[in-house]
Amino acid sequence: IQRIAVLTSGGDAPGMNAALRAVVLAADHYGIEVIAFRHGYQGLLDNEYLTMKPKDVLHVLQYSGTIIKSARCQRFKEESAATEAAANLEALNIDALVIIGGDGSFRGADHLANHWQGQIIGVPGTIDNDLYGTDATIGYATAVTIAMDALDKIRDTADAMDRVFIVEVMGREAGFIGLGSATAAGAERVVLPELQKDKPLTVSALVKHIQRVKEIRGEGSYVMVLSEHQWPGGAVALAEQLDAEYDLPCRPCLLGHIQRGGPPAPADRILASELGVHAIELILQGKHRVMAGMRANQCVDVPLRDTWEKKNPLASNLLRIQHEIFNPVKKNPRMN
Ligand code: ADP
Repeated sequence: IQRIAVLTSGGDAPGMNAALRAVVLAADHYGIEVIAFRHGYQGLLDNEYLTMKPKDVLHVLQYSGTIIKSARCQRFKEESAATEAAANLEALNIDALVIIGGDGSFRGADHLANHWQGQIIGVPGTIDNDLYGTDATIGYATAVTIAMDALDKIRDTADAMDRVFIVEVMGREAGFIGLGSATAAGAERVVLPELQKDKPLTVSALVKHIQRVKEIRGEGSYVMVLSEHQWPGGAVALAEQLDAEYDLPCRPCLLGHIQRGGPPAPADRILASELGVHAIELILQGKHRVMAGMRANQCVDVPLRDTWEKKNPLASNLLRIQHEIFNPVKKNPRMN
């Protein structure tokens, strides 16, 4: 192995820079040259790249975003794009490609692997934590910390005014940020994509819950965490409906992209450092079409396809605690 390439793709995640730094430092340690394609797969198609030396990644791990830029590239799904990318990699004498991104980026990696002989290694970089095969993805710890901080702040004002708040968090089709932040901040209720299929949220059930909590506590705030895409029109529409139809004053709060910025949490910097180095060591071991992951504090490698074909379930104990033990409205206390 003489020369490898790296890119960041899809939604950016706090800790991507730390992962890039680790890749560059580890490659340098083992005497491997590194080039970085800018703007994800778009840069791979446009041959937009630069060489990366340790000095290029000095003091970047404390910043979110990605210094080599990320992008979404619709055209990469086409057959012709993968063959073009393969030709570019051949021409540059690249032996292996490290892709830092989420499940979409890994699908792209798999697509490319059908057309290119070099080794491909994924590094899980997404705030959603929705990849199978690793206990956490790079970015999740920061996102859940930011959501928790926001919920704490909302609580201060909500409590002062005895208000109901609906706080919308990210996560795509996964409820990790929702469940994590709701538990960490003691939200009265959380709506998660994983549970919506079997037990979808209804406004009447929500109103009943809010009223019961008010009855039990006498006064105080009610904070609900709503995962994105789980209600038509999101937190704003739901809050308006409670206000208009049930005369229940309610305020929405959309955290949005704030969940992806600021200093990455220590857990993300540390995970990114380990997985970035692991990616290079997997290349040296001759691994191909795998993701570098972390399970029970052990570096592992997971077939790329498993990362999106298999499901990373929510922690069932956490769900039980949030929905049953911490629910102010007890259904059947001491039934067991
Ligand atoms: P993430 O990696 O954060 O999940 P996306 O889902 O937006 O982000 O995917 C990032 C990029 O990966 C896409 O813009 C596209 O270039 C590429 N990609 C996603 N799915 C596929 C696919 N099925 N085949 C080829 N490339 C894909």
